[in-house]
Amino acid sequence: IMSEAVLAPVKLLGNHMSHLSLEEYRARKVALITGVTGQDGSYLTEFLLDKGYEVHGIIRRSSSFNTGRIEHIYKDRHDQGVKFFLHHGDLTDSTCLVHIVSQVQPTEIYNLGAQSHVKVSFDMSEYTGDVDALGTLRLLDAIRTCGLQDRVRFYQASTSELYGKVAETPQKETTPFYPRSPYGVAKLYGYWIVVNYRESYDMYACNGILFNHESPRRGRTFVTRKITRAVADIHLGRQECLYLGNIDAKRDWGHARDYIEGMWMMLQQDQPEDFVLATGETHTVRSFVEKAFGVTGRKIVWEGEGVNEVGKDAESGKVRVRIDPKYFRPAEVELLLGDPAKAKEKMGWERKVNFDELVTEMVVADIEGSLKNDTYN
Ligand code: NDP
Ligand code: GDP
Repeated sequence: IMSEAVLAPVKLLGNHMSHLSLEEYRARKVALITGVTGQDGSYLTEFLLDKGYEVHGIIRRSSSFNTGRIEHIYKDRHDQGVKFFLHHGDLTDSTCLVHIVSQVQPTEIYNLGAQSHVKVSFDMSEYTGDVDALGTLRLLDAIRTCGLQDRVRFYQASTSELYGKVAETPQKETTPFYPRSPYGVAKLYGYWIVVNYRESYDMYACNGILFNHESPRRGRTFVTRKITRAVADIHLGRQECLYLGNIDAKRDWGHARDYIEGMWMMLQQDQPEDFVLATGETHTVRSFVEKAFGVTGRKIVWEGEGVNEVGKDAESGKVRVRIDPKYFRPAEVELLLGDPAKAKEKMGWERKVNFDELVTEMVVADIEGSLKNDTYN
């Protein structure tokens, strides 16, 4: 009797809708997104609103503007009665996570919030672990604290960075992990805590092991967006030279809009499972650069370590791209190439946008945005 008296209020905390059957609860279609202000969060919000969801996002308090990617959605809310709500919170703050989960009573949670930059994770390793690893645990525990573990479906933003020093190519769901950065190691914890809670508490929780995905909304310090912004600025005469690190690294790059649809699909299956989302193609950073400058008809002269002499060909009208060791990482992931066969077979998921279309869309958006002084992020 004593233990029931102690446990009962804790177990029921925040489960305001316990009178609803599971079917009635889930039919409400209420999504909670961490990382809603990020690239994927913004596309996912648009996608879920179109599907009739009520969408709640967690944003961080910031002294500068951090809602640029979702501003257009939020503005429309007043005019069209869009069901989109924002809550201040942080993945390092358990109390706020419990409050938000309790208040929102979500049917689906998408955990996209993260310190998502690999290079920065070497400089901020503890913080990256706190947010990307323990943040995932905190959110899963918030669901349990609210007594919602049987009702909420949980998506975890896992990553191809888990493969790191790859054990086989292409990489699929069964390929062993060998992360190569504090980011990858933190995400490895996130991956396993999701598997563990699924097995321990029978939660519907999935890992999407997503290979790199880009868009005009990609953060400016990721290599694709850094390149396409440079193409725009060089085209408009605002920049002269582009500085990069390891141009031989190979990535499997897709379009973010295709990938967020796959996230949603993972939460609509009969059983929770982990899925790789990838294009099945890999390209070097060097070829991304060449393709991107090709959109504006420019050729490259490579300068710096291991490539041409500085200044060689400089007069020929070619664009200068210079290797700067500052952008090298202490440990590098040289090759990523995903096998999306399981996602295709079980969910019917396939990427729609190919490499050329992705590069072109990003370059065109950056040129148009630069002209209007209106670029995301
Ligand atoms: P972004 O970097 O664009 O967005 C990250 C989001 O997380 C932002 O909204 C950011 O808020 C938020 N965030 C950062 N720290 C915290 C914190 N302490 N508490 C709460 N929120 C926080 O990433 P993407 O949209 O590209 O990626 C989404 C997720 O998918 C991330 O977890 C990423 O690691 C993962 N992923 C991404 C891949 C990709 O290629 N894009 C590939 C595989 C996985 P703010 O805007 O305030 O900074
Ligand atoms: P990541 O795959 O999550 O690390 O995504 P990034 O876009 O940050 O990096 C992709 C690859 O590009 C990595 O192998 C980087 O080492 C390489 N790269 C080369 N130059 C740069 C650069 O200037 N910035 C970034 N971010 N990456 C670079």
